[in-house]
Amino acid sequence: MIPSSIVILTGAGISAESGLSTFRDIGGIWSKIDYRDVATPEGYARNPGLVHDFYNRRRRKMKSVQPNAAHHALARLDGAFDGDFLLVTQNIDDLHESAGARRLVHMHGELASALCEACGQRSRWPGDMSVNSQCPHCATVGRLRPDVVWFGEMPYHMDRIYAALGGCDLFVAIGTSGSVYPAAQFVEEAALAGARTVELNLEPSENHALFDDSIQGQATKVVPQFVDDLLARMGARAG
Ligand code: NAD
Repeated sequence: MIPSSIVILTGAGISAESGLSTFRDIGGIWSKIDYRDVATPEGYARNPGLVHDFYNRRRRKMKSVQPNAAHHALARLDGAFDGDFLLVTQNIDDLHESAGARRLVHMHGELASALCEACGQRSRWPGDMSVNSQCPHCATVGRLRPDVVWFGEMPYHMDRIYAALGGCDLFVAIGTSGSVYPAAQFVEEAALAGARTVELNLEPSENHALFDDSIQGQATKVVPQFVDDLLARMGARAG
C-alpha cells in the first residue's frame, strides 16, 4: 500500500543511540530521579532551582550530541514525500530539526525554549535558565520556566495532531513505550481513520497489540530500512 498521508510519532528511543537517555528503561531518567520533583507543576512550585538544574543539564547534554541515522531517515522522508506528512515528537531535544525535518511538532515542548509565566511569551533559550532569569519580552525576573509540558499539563498542538491522525492512512510510532497519554492513544485514533499502523521499537511496547505490525530493532537500523522500503515503493509507482 502506498500512503497518501503519513503521521509519525517519535519518543525517547529514537534519540537513545545519539546518547540521550530514555525515561522508563532500566537506567533511564525516571529510574534516577522522581519525575514528581522535576516534571510536574507542583515540583516546580516546591523547588524551581532543582527543576532548572535538571533541564540545564539536559540542555547542555543536547548540545553535545548529534542526530542519528533514524532522525536523518525521517528528515529524508519529510523531504521526499509530497503527500500530507506530520512528524509528532514527544522529545524535547532538537535532533529532528537538526537532521532537517520541517513538518514537525513538539507535543511536549522544547528544551531550547523558555516560557514566561508573567506575559505568556516564548523565547529561544539555548543556555542555562535560573530563578533569576529575565524575560526578554516583558523584562520580568524570576518567572521564566522551561517550555516543556509537565505531567498534568496539556500537550501542545493537539488540534493539528488529531486532524492529521483523522486523515492519515499510515501511522508509525518509533521508540516510544506507549505509556504516556495522550500519545499512547494515537494508534487507536489512526486505526479509526482506517490507517495502517506500524510500531518500530527496541522491544514490543506496552500497546504493541494495537498495531497492525510491530518491528523490533534499534532505531538506527529499522527506521532507515523502513523509510528506504517506503520510498522505493513510492518511486516504483512514480516510475
Ligand atoms: P520511554 O522512555 O517511556 O520509552 C522509550 C522507548 O524506546 C522504550 O519502549 C524502549 O524500548 C525504546 N528504545 C530504547 N532504545 C531504543 C533504540 N535504540 N531504538 C528503538 N527503540 C528504543 O519514552 P517515551 O515513550 O518517549 O515516553 C514519553 C515520555 O515523555 C514519558 O516517558 C515522559 O516521561 C516524557 N515526558 C517528559 C517530559 C519532560 O521531560 N518534561 C514531559 C512530559 C512527558
